[in-house]
Amino acid sequence: MKKFRLRILLAFGIMVSLVSCSNDDDSTNEPETETETETGTDGHVFKESLMVGDNLLQEVSIVSARLVDGTTADCYKLVFKSNPVANGPYCPETENDIGGLGVYDGNTNPGFQVMKKALWDAMEADGYDLVDDDGNVVIADPAAGPPPSGGACLEGSPDNDLELTFLIPAEPKMGTSNDVISTVEHIGVSKDGIPLTGDPPSATQSQGGPGGGGAIPSLDPCGGHMDPSGYYHLHFGAEAMNEVLISNDITDVSCTNYEQSETVFIGFAKDGYPIYSTRDADGTLPDDLDECYGHFGTTTDYPDGIYHYHVSSTQAPNLPPCLKGVAVNTRDAFSTN
Ligand SMILES: [Zn+2]
Ligand SMILES: [Zn+2]
Repeated sequence: MKKFRLRILLAFGIMVSLVSCSNDDDSTNEPETETETETGTDGHVFKESLMVGDNLLQEVSIVSARLVDGTTADCYKLVFKSNPVANGPYCPETENDIGGLGVYDGNTNPGFQVMKKALWDAMEADGYDLVDDDGNVVIADPAAGPPPSGGACLEGSPDNDLELTFLIPAEPKMGTSNDVISTVEHIGVSKDGIPLTGDPPSATQSQGGPGGGGAIPSLDPCGGHMDPSGYYHLHFGAEAMNEVLISNDITDVSCTNYEQSETVFIGFAKDGYPIYSTRDADGTLPDDLDECYGHFGTTTDYPDGIYHYHVSSTQAPNLPPCLKGVAVNTRDAFSTN
């Protein structure tokens, strides 16, 4: 009996609040509706409901921030803890083990590949020396100073006490030219608070042995790794990683730390537009993507349609190579302390 009465009261309460919401425009004198408008998302693209709140360190707030075009805009401020997700494996211990992934840009057998003997052999052919006389792979922490002579497989250490702060424009706007993402430049934030980052650093251009080069960053099978300062970040849209691996004929490893999905919401770009996996909600592979992997269309979360990005199912890395919108200044879009 009590339960039933409570239900009626609840239903009545919902009806009243629905009525008061629909009358927002007429009843501007009511302080309660003003509060609702303040926390509502009129014109705002960012949706807190799309983020995984467990990893947030403080309540999401709105702050004013400078955009790359010099204007100022309201931005959502998200503060996440570092390293909330499982990660690894990275560098293999010996030349006969299989580790994570690397992108090699040398002459011999370049490209996206598994960290295993074929890669070390290719790098040795190019004059580097990453395997010692006992067959152990030379592994170095990039935070510990210059890598050893001859190069190394780079593997950073986590600092779980970092706070990662992201600023996302509330009302994204299109820029006048493409904002091309450079190597290791910040792109956006995943729904679980992981920084999404441009291409990993070059192995041949790295600070390595006497002639330079030969230090190759290791990525785990989901496409992420530790920054030298200790936070995990992704160079790939991890939810589509296994599609990318298959496209690149990689079968030794697969991404198990992220649930794979062709349609899921991945995160927000630093220009405020959402990023989705490889396909639209109806399962179709978009055929009208622009050079930044974006297009206008409806999504499950934006049924009225929105400009949004997809990640590639074939390219490695697969994140948008450029952004169409006006982003927050790089220094403020993502910061750590
Ligand atoms: Zn990185
Ligand atoms: Zn789409």
